[in-house]
Amino acid sequence: MCDSINHTSEQIEDLVVEPCLEINEFEETAPKASFNGLVKDAPRANTSVVNGLSQQLIYQINLIVPDALVSFDDLDVELGSAAYPFVPPAAKQALQEAIERRGKRLVVNSAYRTLAQQMLLYNGRFNNPNPVAAPGTSNHQSGLALDIEDRQGWLPFLEGSGWHPLAGDPPHLDYRGQGAKDLRRETILAFQQLWNKNHPNEKIGEDGRWGPKTESCLNRSPAMGFEKAPWDEKPRILRLCRPLMEGSDVRKLQQKLKDAGFAISVADGVFGSEADKAVKEFQQRNSLVADGIVGAKTRELMA
Ligand SMILES: [Zn+2]
Repeated sequence: MCDSINHTSEQIEDLVVEPCLEINEFEETAPKASFNGLVKDAPRANTSVVNGLSQQLIYQINLIVPDALVSFDDLDVELGSAAYPFVPPAAKQALQEAIERRGKRLVVNSAYRTLAQQMLLYNGRFNNPNPVAAPGTSNHQSGLALDIEDRQGWLPFLEGSGWHPLAGDPPHLDYRGQGAKDLRRETILAFQQLWNKNHPNEKIGEDGRWGPKTESCLNRSPAMGFEKAPWDEKPRILRLCRPLMEGSDVRKLQQKLKDAGFAISVADGVFGSEADKAVKEFQQRNSLVADGIVGAKTRELMA
């Protein structure tokens, strides 16, 4: 059982019993793009139907606490269909070392779970015999949780690096090493800030606490993400990654590439292999390193 919430760090106080194995099995094949509607109406087959909103929330958390969550999708990992591979930098380092030492691919079924994903699970809790934590209270919102396969096999390689198994919850690990910061408050705060930015006439308290008002607003939020995105002010680095990047910035990039004659069939706002190929071609033509990563230089030349 995921009852470790008060074991993961001293900042974690409440106790929530959440069976990770059953929750992970709930996630079926991911859709290509987010559900085009509100969170409350989103189908509950896979929590990546709120990918657009989830990506905005993760980006906003990193605006609140710089580099709080970094992606480990560049490591030798196989990811579950709705897994967001985000942990603090030091926790990623520990994973990388373990993977290199063992020389084996790490299968991750869940890591960071966004507030929007937890909302979907919570909305469906009455159909689920297993307990689901209220959004913002699951240890998977701390940014320090991981559900992996073959935990026993991995433990000797992770031991001493800050990753600890959770008794009674077979896939679950929590990071308690250097640089561990429980991000559950920021997880809620990030949503509250984004909501307020998009609803100046219906502002809610930015207190980082879960309550009925925040719940109502989250359910009324678009699954694809808000119109005013956190990357409007501070551009996001775009690249082909898992889960696929999705949002208004990707749509604009696709449109620019399409207008410039690159092979983009549709500007759907999802950064897939087609966009990756087009970006690399653009970079090659402009004597840039053709790595497919849209950073400041590529963006500048595209403007
Ligand atoms: Zn777990």
